[in-house]
Amino acid sequence: MKIVLASDNTGKLREFRDLLHGTAISIHPQSMFSLESPPETGRTFDENALIKARHASRQSGLPAIADDSGLVVECLGGAPGIFSARYAGKDATDLDNMRKLLHALKDVGRSARNAYFHCSLALIGNPEDCAPVVFDGRWHGTIAQEPAGTLGFGYDPVFLVPGMNCTSAQLDAGVKNRISHRAIALNKLTRYLLSRVSD
Ligand code: IMP
Repeated sequence: MKIVLASDNTGKLREFRDLLHGTAISIHPQSMFSLESPPETGRTFDENALIKARHASRQSGLPAIADDSGLVVECLGGAPGIFSARYAGKDATDLDNMRKLLHALKDVGRSARNAYFHCSLALIGNPEDCAPVVFDGRWHGTIAQEPAGTLGFGYDPVFLVPGMNCTSAQLDAGVKNRISHRAIALNKLTRYLLSRVSD
């Protein structure tokens, strides 16, 4: 079974291929089909993942997988949420976004800085599929007072991992890829796909 991944992120592609290694499922990046990403106009992570998956399936003629993820901070009413990549503006850098977040939390004490990374992962069999499936993953933690660490991307330097006394930007990629929101969603999707090909 061939599936297109609606992303050109080589890290995501590698994670999928590793998990599905040795199975009858092969994953192909959207760049193989010269696809461009559609506007993310949904109001939820699930809607945006479905928009991207449907677009990739329509353009490639194959079943498609797409993910949408972001950081949800409870005391900010869920912000930055689906706007995580552009929290501080359309062309904001990761640093701009983190600065805005730390500023928004400047008067919030340690015990009220709960947050989680969310990932929605959609699988659509064809562009007209009326029963697509979406799997989710959540990685809970708290927001630090200041950034620490240089690994990862996005909000990793300010995301404190519970029980590990470090931020996710101080975690080895191998460790992060086993426990993150994406890993949780990806494992659910992989189990689903494997159960379908063995039916
Ligand atoms: P995307 O949907 O994977 O492109 O993620 C959207 C945005 O959410 C990213 O630009 C980051 O700001 C944030 N984000 C998602 N996952 C992570 C993560 O694992 N670490 C840090 N930030 C993340």
